[in-house]
Amino acid sequence: MEYNYDDQNIFAKILRGEIPNKTAFENDHALAFHDINPQAPVHVLVIPKGPYMSLDHFARDASADEQVGFFAAVAAVCEKFDLGQGFRGISNTRTHGVQEVPHYHMHILGGRPLGRMLD
Ligand code: 5GP
Repeated sequence: MEYNYDDQNIFAKILRGEIPNKTAFENDHALAFHDINPQAPVHVLVIPKGPYMSLDHFARDASADEQVGFFAAVAAVCEKFDLGQGFRGISNTRTHGVQEVPHYHMHILGGRPLGRMLD
């Protein structure tokens, strides 16, 4: 699946420092920041620093170092916000997945029981 990465998307602007964010964690390959419209006590978005639009593009095109860095950031967020009782990681993808921002991100939601999702 080819794609054109839109470097004017809001997360690209956050990565360039053009829009402020409330950073939760950062490493060489990923940034984690609080969602502006939280749906749970913990609602953090983890994004790669590279120009990937969606989960499948990131899985296919990102280097091993980028992928390891991304998941290290996910793990750091879970540790930082004490999500030992569980959480939900969601990557909405394109039209059917209702992805609003076309830069790959994983929502990390936790801090309360979240209920079943796929009934
Ligand atoms: P999506 O529907 O693409 O999976 O989710 C995009 C998420 O980005 C939404 O939960 C929305 O609240 C969040 N969001 C949109 N714009 C901003 C912003 O400027 N700053 C932050 N921190 N979150 C944003």
